[in-house]
Amino acid sequence: MEKIRMTTPLIEMDGDEMTRIIWKMIKDDLLLPFIDLKTIYYDLGLKNRDATGDQVTLEAAKATEQYGVAVKCATITPNRARMEEYHLKALYKSPNATLRSALDGTVFRGPIIVRGIDPYVRTWKKPIMLARHAYGDVYKNSEIKIGGAGKAELVYTEKDTGIEHRQLIHDFAGPGIVQGIHNTERSIRSFARTCFQYALDQKMDLWFSTKDTISKTYDGTFKEIFEEVYRKEYKDKYEAAGITYFYTLIDDAVARVIRSKGGFVWALKNYDGDVMSDMLATAFGSLAMMTSTLVSPHGAYEYEAAHGTVQRHYYKYLKGEKESTNSVATIFAWTGALKKRGELDENEALVHFAKSLEEATIETIESGKMTGDLAAITTLPNVTTLNTEEFILAIRDTLTAKLA
Ligand code: NAP
Ligand code: MG
Repeated sequence: MEKIRMTTPLIEMDGDEMTRIIWKMIKDDLLLPFIDLKTIYYDLGLKNRDATGDQVTLEAAKATEQYGVAVKCATITPNRARMEEYHLKALYKSPNATLRSALDGTVFRGPIIVRGIDPYVRTWKKPIMLARHAYGDVYKNSEIKIGGAGKAELVYTEKDTGIEHRQLIHDFAGPGIVQGIHNTERSIRSFARTCFQYALDQKMDLWFSTKDTISKTYDGTFKEIFEEVYRKEYKDKYEAAGITYFYTLIDDAVARVIRSKGGFVWALKNYDGDVMSDMLATAFGSLAMMTSTLVSPHGAYEYEAAHGTVQRHYYKYLKGEKESTNSVATIFAWTGALKKRGELDENEALVHFAKSLEEATIETIESGKMTGDLAAITTLPNVTTLNTEEFILAIRDTLTAKLA
C-alpha cells in the first residue's frame, strides 16, 4: 500500500511514563505503516525539560503558534516527590499551563462516545464539549485571614490620576476571611472569540452560563462581552450555519445539561469549568475516553488526552507486568491533529485516514475487545480484556481491513 503523504509537519510533543510508552506504540503500529508521517519533534519528557531548563516547552509552544497544529503526550507536572525522583534542578511549571499562557488558549474537553460504554446520564446521546476559561478568578486570588475586628475594603487606584475608588467589603466584628479576585477584558474577550469560533467549526450550539444575577458587575461583564462578540462578529455566521448561542444562569444550565441529549459546547468561567469538567468526564464513563484541545484565538490547535501519565501502570510495566492501559484518548489526540492538519492543507487522504482510525478504534471496542478499565464498566456481553499492546494491535487489524 502506498503511504499517505503530508505537506506540512505536525508539532509533536513527547511526554512521560506510561503515556510515553503508548505514544511510541501508536506511532509504530497505527501511524507509520500507513502515513509518511512528518512531525517536528519536541521531547517534553521531564528529563529533557530539566536538561533544557524547560526551554523545550517554550520552543514547542512557539512552533505550535507558527505551524498551527500540535499533538501532545501527557507529561508529569513536577511536585516535591518528582523533584527527588528525577533529581530536578527546579520545580518547573506544568507544561500545559506554559502552553496555555503562551498561546493565550482555551481548553475544550470532550468525550469519545462508544456503544456499550454508557453515560451515567441516560439522556446523553451526543458529546458535550466543555470550554473552561483558564485565566484569573480564584486561581489568581489574593486572600487574607482576618484576625479580629476591623474594616476590609476594595481599593483601586487609577494609574494616570492617582484617584482612589473604595468600597467596603465588610466591617468585621471578629475574626474572618477575605478574598480578592480579578479578570481582564482582554482575556474574557479572547475566551469568548475562541468559544464562538470553536462551536462554529464543530457546527454545535454554544451555551454560556455565569451567576450574573448575584454578581452583577463581575459575572455581568462576562455576559456582556459574550453578547457583544456574538452580536458584532458571529450572529450572521451562526444563523447561516443553523446553530444558536444560548446564555443562561449557571444553576439553570446545570439542570438543563442533565436533561439534554448533548451535542453542544458549554463555555464556563474558570472555577465552574474546573468542577464541571470532572463531573462530565466521570458521568460520560471514563477519564481514559476524554480528549482535550487547546485552541488559541489566532487559530492554533494543540490536541491531547485529558488524563495524566498513568504512573501506577508505568511502575507495573517497569517490573515487567502486563498492564492494560487505555490508549483511546491518545489515539484521538493524534487523529484530531491529523484531521485538522489535513483540513488546513486540503489533504483529503489524510483526513480520511484519521477518520478511519477513529472508526477502527470504536469498532474494535464495540466488537468486545477492550482494555481493563472499559471491561469493568461495559454493558456489552462477551468481552475480551486485552493488555496495552494487544489492544493497539487489535485496532491495527480493524484498520488494515477497513483500508484494504
Ligand atoms: P492519571 O495519570 O490520569 O491516572 C490516574 C488513574 O486513573 C490511573 O491510576 C488509572 O486508574 C486511571 N487512568 C487514567 N488514565 C488511564 C488510562 N489511559 N487507562 C487506564 N486507566 C487510566 O493521573 P495521576 O496518576 O494522578 O497523575 C500521574 C501524572 O500525570 C502526574 O505526574 C500528573 O502531574 C500528570 N498529569 C498530566 C496531565 C497532562 O499532561 N495533561 C494531566 C493530568 C495529570 P487505576 O490505577 O485504578 O487503573
Ligand atoms: Mg478539576
